[in-house]
Amino acid sequence: MTILSLSNLTKRFGAETALDGVDLALAAGERVALLGHNGAGKTTLMKLVLGLIPASAGSVEVAGHAPGSAIARGLTAYLPENVAFHPSLTAREQIRHYLRLRGGDPSEAGAILEKVGLGAAADRRIGTYSKGMRQRVGLAQALIGRPRLMVLDEPTSGLDPVSRGEFYALLDDLAASGTAILLSSHALSEVEVKTDRLVVLAHGRKVAEGTLEALRAEAALPLTVHLRPRKGRGTALAQAFPEAREGAGRLTLTCAQSEKMALMARITGSADMMADFDVLPPSLDDIYAHISRRAA
Ligand code: ATP
Repeated sequence: MTILSLSNLTKRFGAETALDGVDLALAAGERVALLGHNGAGKTTLMKLVLGLIPASAGSVEVAGHAPGSAIARGLTAYLPENVAFHPSLTAREQIRHYLRLRGGDPSEAGAILEKVGLGAAADRRIGTYSKGMRQRVGLAQALIGRPRLMVLDEPTSGLDPVSRGEFYALLDDLAASGTAILLSSHALSEVEVKTDRLVVLAHGRKVAEGTLEALRAEAALPLTVHLRPRKGRGTALAQAFPEAREGAGRLTLTCAQSEKMALMARITGSADMMADFDVLPPSLDDIYAHISRRAA
């Protein structure tokens, strides 16, 4: 089932086109990452999805409803990039308050805070919380009412690696229960493994969309191969691979995807000179830089 549907979505601010003809669909349970440099149009897209600003052209539908309508708002949760809460309230008081506002049961606050790892700190004032803890209060707030669509603006900025892992585990649970998740991020290495699909925006246009594998294949960037020589065989190995660069006790070479098998055969043929080797596919950062350059 399609939860979010954008069709030819366009937003102009005076002479500036912030979003230009974007089509996008999110099915229930799908996790989609929105990538793009500063000013690419990510926040504008999110504001349109939330119905905070009107589109100049095109349309947005949230489960078939107009963005910002009472039904769409009831189905959507939003976590802004910088969440601000009243510093003198405890997390429990804050979440109870939100539950009341959304017509929920305030006694559920404890269970929601437990879910985001704030059970033990629930009765401390938010003013004493670390940035990561405040981010979790934001997520707790977004979990209220079992949203069908969750929109998260750079949700993991400021979180340490362990907290990021826990955060994505929560998103996995939500997605498994059918919530569609649209998140923006600059942390490419994490969205690489934590989302189902990537959408790259540049100057308001969608310039790439697909799984990481699909984008990797489309970019056709070379692989990097490291060869580590056996003791005393460094010179022989360097002669066998004259195109390689030497450094850090190993040889480094790059190889087009189409020549991978031929290189493997050469590596196998020189196995007696090698202690080890590694084949590194292009990273998401490489692919992203390639797509951005192409778009420019
Ligand atoms: P960042 O990663 O820095 O948050 P972004 O991808 O979210 O960037 P947007 O905030 O959507 O980018 O901005 C897209 C473009 O639209 C920018 O050129 C920005 O200056 C412009 N823009 C956004 N909001 C307004 C506004 N209210 N008035 C005029 N221009 C705007």
